[in-house]
Amino acid sequence: MSSSENFLDSVNKMFDRSATLLNLSSGLAEKIKVANSTYTVRFGVRLRDKLETFTGFRSVHSEHWEPVKGGIRYSPFASQMEVEALAALMSYKCSLMDLPFGGSKGALIIDPQKWRKKELQRITRRFTQELAKRDLIHPSQNVPGPDMGTGENEMAWIADEYKRLHPTEIDALACVTGKPVRKGGIEGRIEATGRGIQYVLREFFEHPEDYKKAKLSPDLEGQRIIIQGFGNVGYHAAKFLSEEEGARITAIIEHQGSVINDKGIDIASLKEHFKEKGSFEGFNGFSSDSNKILEKKCDILIPAAVEGVIDSTNADRISAKLIVEAANGPVTAEADQLLSKKGVLIIPDFYANAGGVTVSYFEWVKNLTHMRYGLMQRREQERRQTALISGLEEMMNKDFPVSLKDIVTNGATEIDLVRSGLEETMRNGYKRISRKWHADKRISDLRTAAMVIAIKRIADSYYFLGI
Ligand code: NAD
Repeated sequence: MSSSENFLDSVNKMFDRSATLLNLSSGLAEKIKVANSTYTVRFGVRLRDKLETFTGFRSVHSEHWEPVKGGIRYSPFASQMEVEALAALMSYKCSLMDLPFGGSKGALIIDPQKWRKKELQRITRRFTQELAKRDLIHPSQNVPGPDMGTGENEMAWIADEYKRLHPTEIDALACVTGKPVRKGGIEGRIEATGRGIQYVLREFFEHPEDYKKAKLSPDLEGQRIIIQGFGNVGYHAAKFLSEEEGARITAIIEHQGSVINDKGIDIASLKEHFKEKGSFEGFNGFSSDSNKILEKKCDILIPAAVEGVIDSTNADRISAKLIVEAANGPVTAEADQLLSKKGVLIIPDFYANAGGVTVSYFEWVKNLTHMRYGLMQRREQERRQTALISGLEEMMNKDFPVSLKDIVTNGATEIDLVRSGLEETMRNGYKRISRKWHADKRISDLRTAAMVIAIKRIADSYYFLGI
């Protein structure tokens, strides 16, 4: 991100562009835009014979719905402004996707690579105490989840620490999402954001008007895709798009280099290599270049790492036809305008990466109902479908095709239901945004369309509260 652009300014500029189209009552746009509160906590943990002081943040952007929702990031570069930008995006995301949450986000300034697992556990538990005693973690007020640098382990420690502080709280597990399945999590949460990207693209290619605008051919199969970031989101997006949709992942960009293969990278092998070596070095097609590869020719570019990687200094060299913002804020407000002028279509972050919070919503509901999805209906479904097939076989005097029998008779499991709910949510989201884009001549792109929908809903919510 160039020095004149910062993440929070960028999110606010994008907000302003859309808010002016809405004729909101005086002062309401400003009220929606600003963060309601941001707490900074500083705490000490004795580690390696030294008292280490850590700084963390939890920002609450909008409480028009409670609980507020948003991940916790572990990064040496975290800052208050970054957290406020991310919290704002969470409000717009939940509003756009019709999820019953306000927006929040948290971060701890830490390089997780520097600490052992046991140490990270102690730090996370202490951070949890600081947040929980201010109700910044709470099943009905503020529900964190994973983000960059955090995952299932951190979420399990947060849930456990919260439970220790509130031993009689029956809904304690709902205080955080992204937990391991064995610790109150839900099947399909880890893959959810990458899986969501797959569904976004499936739906995009159902809209000829949209893919023609991007000058893309009609099918997802065979599209050349470059992905930046091979963490949770980037890896899962790469895996599902290549293995299930037949897209060609022609480059993957990481910190210390990239892998390039115009015929399509074998994602499973790369994952194994990356896990073992911690870098791409030595893998077929390795290049020590990172940033330049973003500019390489492709059909679809998926930035899935950090914010601000496409800014006013490199936007004119981006040669993708479509950008899917899997990361939060990868394209700055200035770059957004430059790319639009060039005819590059952008599917905005607060829609594109909403798969994570959508499945987090399913997890939160699961924790509150204290029952796993599919438990009550699965066997009953199987019994009825099996009876139906037997009836058909009897009537036709023929066996039902073996290849279809299992598909028809198997009742839905938790993972089936999660994927189905996620696909429904992501596809409907795209339909809404695209419809809005084409229905209003003043709206020139998908981001503005999505933002107009999100802001209007928050504004309506404030109106009905009498604000
Ligand atoms: P992660 O920590 O699992 O992975 C991030 C990867 O990006 C790492 O492998 C890191 O080495 C790489 N990376 C970081 N900076 C880079 C750079 N400048 N160039 C190339 N590679 C770089 O994080 P994640 O959970 O995959 O999150 C990635 C992005 O997606 C973040 O912006 C996050 O806010 C967003 N997001 C994540 C989720 C989720 O469910 N995890 C949900 C919504 C949005």
